[in-house]
Parts: sequence; C-alpha cells; structure tokens
Amino acid sequence: MDNFNGPGMDNFWLKQAFERLGKPQVRSLSKHVLADVTIVGGGYLGLWTAIRIKEESPSLKVVVVERDLCGAGASGRNGGFVTSYWAKYLSLHKKCGTHEAARIAKSSAEAVLEIGTFCRENGIDAEFRADGWLWTATSATQVGCWNVLLNELAKHHVRPFEVLDNAEVARLGGTDRNLAGVFEPGAATVQPAILALGLRTHAQKLGVTIYEHSPMTRLERTRTPKVVTRKGSVTSEKVVLAMNAWGAQFSHLRRKVAIVSSDMIATTANPDQLNEIGLKKGVAICDSRMFLNYYRNTPDGRIVFGKSLGHFAFAGRVADHYEGPSPRAGEVEESFRNLYPMLHGMDVESSWTGPIDRSVDGLPFFGRLDDHPDIFFGIGFSGQGIGPTVLGGRILASLALDEANQWSHCGLVRDDVEEFPIEPFRYVGSILVREALRRKEGLEDRARRPDALTLAIAKLAPVGYVPSRRN
Ligand SMILES: Cc1cc2nc3c(=O)[nH]c(=O)nc-3n(C[C@H](O)[C@H](O)[C@H](O)COP(=O)(O)OP(=O)(O)OC[C@H]3O[C@@H](n4cnc5c(N)ncnc54)[C@H](O)[C@@H]3O)c2cc1C
Repeated sequence: MDNFNGPGMDNFWLKQAFERLGKPQVRSLSKHVLADVTIVGGGYLGLWTAIRIKEESPSLKVVVVERDLCGAGASGRNGGFVTSYWAKYLSLHKKCGTHEAARIAKSSAEAVLEIGTFCRENGIDAEFRADGWLWTATSATQVGCWNVLLNELAKHHVRPFEVLDNAEVARLGGTDRNLAGVFEPGAATVQPAILALGLRTHAQKLGVTIYEHSPMTRLERTRTPKVVTRKGSVTSEKVVLAMNAWGAQFSHLRRKVAIVSSDMIATTANPDQLNEIGLKKGVAICDSRMFLNYYRNTPDGRIVFGKSLGHFAFAGRVADHYEGPSPRAGEVEESFRNLYPMLHGMDVESSWTGPIDRSVDGLPFFGRLDDHPDIFFGIGFSGQGIGPTVLGGRILASLALDEANQWSHCGLVRDDVEEFPIEPFRYVGSILVREALRRKEGLEDRARRPDALTLAIAKLAPVGYVPSRRN
C-alpha cells in the first residue's frame, strides 16, 4: 500500500476531500489475479456497478482497476449538480417511447434521493443539499425554451418543474441577470470528490478489491477476457468498461462520443457576501445555452462556476488535455463576473478542467463491446452523470450478472447509437459549430439576431438540456 500522490492532488475538490478525510492508501496491481468481474474505471459508474454486484452476489470476486485514484476522473472534478432526467425527457421519449422514458426519468429522480440516503446511511459527509435546480434564461431567446418540455410532461400529468415568476428567479439565483426560469425542487448538490471517495470506501467494505495507479494497457478479448496493466493482469468471466471519455479509445465507441472539456473555477470563501445577495441555500443554477453556464455556492461560502467551452479531443484522444488548471479560466471568470458583478471582492482561487463524453442525443448508452458476450460498457453521460450513474450501475450490474430484468432490457441498452462524422471532419466541424454557437449566444446576450448561416451551423450541435428540433 502507498500513500496516494498522483495528479488528482491538484484537484480542488479532491484536495478539500483529503484535508477532511486524510489521504487514502492505494494499492496497485503487480501480479496476475483471477476474478469473477473486473471493472475498468473507478469513477461513479465503475464504483456503483461494483457495489450493486456485491450487494446482489456477495460471494463474487469483484476487482476495480483504476488508472489514477478513484474519483480522479470526472467524478472528482464536476460541478456537483445532482439532477434527474426530467429535463431530457424529450430525448428519452424519442429513443425509448413514452412508458420507458417516464420509467427512466422517474428512476433518475429517485436516484437523487438515493444518493442522499446512501451518504447519510454510510456516514459520508458529501455536503448533500436537496435545495433544487433553477433552470434559467439570460437572454430573450432563452426565455421559455423549456415550454415545449413542460407542455409534453403535463400531457402525462407529470410536473417536476415549478414555473417561477421573474422576481423569484432573480431572488433565488441572487442576480437579476437571470430573466426567467423554472425550478426543479427534487434536485440536489454534493461535494463530488467526497461522494466518489465515499463510494470507494463503501465498495471496499463490501469486499471489492480496488487497484489504483494501475492503468489498463491492453484488453485481451479472448473467450475469458483479460485486463492487462503495466505490472499485472486480471482474468475474469466478465469485464465492465466504465472509463468515461477514456473509453473513446475503443474503435467501437470512438465515433459515438465526442470528447469536449468542461471548465470550472472556485472563488475564495465569503459567506457574508453570498448572504447579502440572497444565495443562502445550495440551489444549483444553470442557464439555457448550449455551452452551458452552471454555478452554485458551497457550504463554506464560495461560488463554483462551470462552463462547457468545448476543447475537443481529436479522434477521442484524451491525452493530458483535460488535466490541471483550466486554460480557459479567464473566459469562465468573465461569465461569472457578468452574472455576479457585485461579487467583485471574491477572487478566483482555483480552476480546473475535465472531459465530457458527449453523445449525439445527450444520453448515455450501454452494451457489449464489439458484440463480445462478456465485455460490457457504459458511456455518453454528456455532462450529467452524478444521478444517472446510479442507474448506470444497475444496468451494468444486471448485464454482468446475466440477469433479465428492467435494467438489462432498459431503453438505454441500445445499438442504434447515432455517430459523429469521421475525423478530421468531426474535429473541424466541432470547431465550426462551437464558434457559431459562441457567436449566436454572444449576439443574443446583446439582444441581437444572429445571421442565417450562424444559426444553421449552430443547429448542428448535439443535443443538450435545451429542447430543440432534434429532440
Ligand atoms: C468539469 C465537469 C463538470 C461536471 N459537472 C457535472 C454536474 O454538475 N452534474 C453531473 O451530473 N455531472 C457533471 N459532470 C459529468 C460527471 O462528472 C460524469 O458524467 C461522471 O462523473 C461520469 O462518471 P464515470 O465513472 O463514467 O467517469 P469518471 O469519473 O471519469 O471515471 C472514469 C475512470 O476511468 C479511469 N480510467 C480511464 N482510463 C483507464 C485505464 N486505461 N485503466 C484504468 N482506469 C482508467 C479514469 O481515471 C477515471 O477515474 C461534469 C463533468 C466535468 C468534467
């Protein structure tokens, strides 16, 4: 066992988690071992999968192989918004039909509460605050973009969102730059790295063996698959790939996800100033752009502010593009200052970036890698993974355990996944679309109409939160 000392040490949330919990002891894989199930990737998805398998079949030997430290990927560096799939109901409906879309969305709302219960029951102080999600508009074009969704949900007598009057939106968000909005009371926020480390500890308590600092260097797709690392290997009946953006290295998945950055900053703590503007509770807030602004306070009185700015990985190669401080922190700070000019005294203390595994329809998908009967994957969470990986864990556990149930037959287990164009067209196209979106949204912020070409290119963007013609 070593004391962890990897790249995750620079991460704002992980650093805070280590200060509170101490540095975890890590063990790497240095020999050949046998297991029943090997899970590659120790983020939320891999850990929930491991936990579900052990809960159902305690006698199985379950191994997690992690490149860095569990939670050092997106799970330990996200915004901490724990939201349901009700906002993505239209996309779900298009893929899975009314009944299954409603079932998945309902389960995703239950998953939010389940995370709270999991933390409470297992003594994990991940700052779970069920203070809701405020979905806003910051330009006239964005106002009412949720109506098509709310109208569709109302037809099924589902009303997860409250329509707020504009003064209430401004009050709840602590800024009058939010012009209008709707509120989902069932949403929550967490300290993401503490949740990831809590899942890690819980998995270990259930008997899951976790090898960290052990990147998989090769996957042998033999009848009994083998996960090979630099100094060891695991042969097991089943393999689950829960590698997020890093999974795009498999040719089977490469064109089904585009890897883009999301970039975040955290300010210094000033709870008094947040109190003054009314940001007392832990409401999660985002606007209705494609390159979303998302932000909230922390219990110690900071603002964490994120923006999906889209640094694209050519051909799904993640490399080191998503490690360390954000090269786009200045642009994120500018958006924060535009929304909260009155918080000028709160400096940016930290910035970071991370990879998002964006699918064309904004939904994750699950299946068998290259039709191998015993190698499963889950990918494509598209920047919304904290709640949905709870469902993802159920899906992957059911598949790995050969169960025939509502999760192994879930509408998100699918082959008909739309693909992005081949390289270099995807890369060049992504940059064109990103610049068109920047221009469009910049003009809309200044109450100006974008030209027809800009609008046409911007419409090629994959599906986000905002309901569009592609839903
Ligand atoms: C900046 C940012 C902000 C976000 N904000 C939110 C938010 O507010 N709300 C929300 O719901 N979602 C958010 N997300 C998305 C969310 O974090 C992810 O969808 C979720 O963490 C996915 O979990 P995962 O386990 O699939 O991925 P990860 O946590 O990335 O786990 C994958 C793991 O695989 C490991 N790995 C990769 N390659 C190998 C290899 N060769 N061998 C072994 N291990 C390997 C990685 O090290 C990593 O730990 C955000 C993401 C980012 C980057």
